[in-house]
Amino acid sequence: MSVADVISGGGLGRRLRWTDALRNPLGTACHHAYGSPVLAVVYHAVCDTVPDHLKHIYRPRTPKEFTEDLDFLLKHFEPTDLPTVTGAALGGPEIRRPSLLVTFDDGMREVAEVAMPILRRKGIRPALYLNLNFLDNRTLFYRHKASLLAERLSRLAEADPRRAVCAATLARAGAVAADPAAGVMKVSWHQRAVLDEIATVLEFDTAGFLADEKPYLTRDEIADLMAEGVSIGAHGFDHPNHRLLTPEQRKEEVTGSVAGIRELFGPGCGSFAFPYSDEGLPEALFGELYGDGVDVTFGTSWPRRGGPQRRIQRICFENGPAPAKQQLVKRLLRGGAGNMKRALAG
Ligand SMILES: [Zn+2]
Repeated sequence: MSVADVISGGGLGRRLRWTDALRNPLGTACHHAYGSPVLAVVYHAVCDTVPDHLKHIYRPRTPKEFTEDLDFLLKHFEPTDLPTVTGAALGGPEIRRPSLLVTFDDGMREVAEVAMPILRRKGIRPALYLNLNFLDNRTLFYRHKASLLAERLSRLAEADPRRAVCAATLARAGAVAADPAAGVMKVSWHQRAVLDEIATVLEFDTAGFLADEKPYLTRDEIADLMAEGVSIGAHGFDHPNHRLLTPEQRKEEVTGSVAGIRELFGPGCGSFAFPYSDEGLPEALFGELYGDGVDVTFGTSWPRRGGPQRRIQRICFENGPAPAKQQLVKRLLRGGAGNMKRALAG
């Protein structure tokens, strides 16, 4: 095994040549690290002013930052799309050149309104991963609700009695933090009913918010995006953390939502992006899913040594303001060091 194989996790993807490395060092390093010439990236929204329902979860790119990310990535990768990536993973034409797949999770309206004009100019056809329950603004993602409540709690006066009521409610659910605004962000998917209790205390009207703000894309808007080459995949029904689900719930969440998305948007929509991460899920699950109609799956963890080509990992740049270049290089160094450590350990 060569040093490059050790760093990459070994035996992943097609054999790379030194000429590749000389021509495009970053693209070649990513190919080694991810075991694929495709660098898949995931965003949620692009906006100048971060709305309250996203503010306490992650830091979306501004249009300027998003443009700069893409300008950098397109210097090293050529744009590809989901059908091409899925086709290659299923044994179709091989992708040979370093390629970029842009994806968005959760079906936020900022994708159509802010990100798409930028993507169009760059010739990028992204893939959108949608939650069936959020589509058409029917229900509010519990994390978005938590962020809205955290924002309201952070604006309450110190002496406001509602702070203590909310803190006690959160403590009952085990979501303890220095202040209730931080505590509300600790509420897990299993405890999400607690958010409705907090919403009642704070007189937050969930249905009114959905009707007024319309944070999610509608089916008609998605149909328009598909007409210009945007791909669609499933992100589950209501965004649970799969590590908290039973094997049966996990399988139903994936295959059921893929079937639902296919029914709405066509048979080609057979991929699934795991909410949060696919890290720590049983290896056997993936074989079962691929045998049950799921084309490919996406996670956000570091690629496993010898993992199936249909299990693709993505990198997220919304953890902070650092540009894609800086985050990507840091990730490659950290992942390569991890692979080296695991190889030396055994
Ligand atoms: Zn998500």
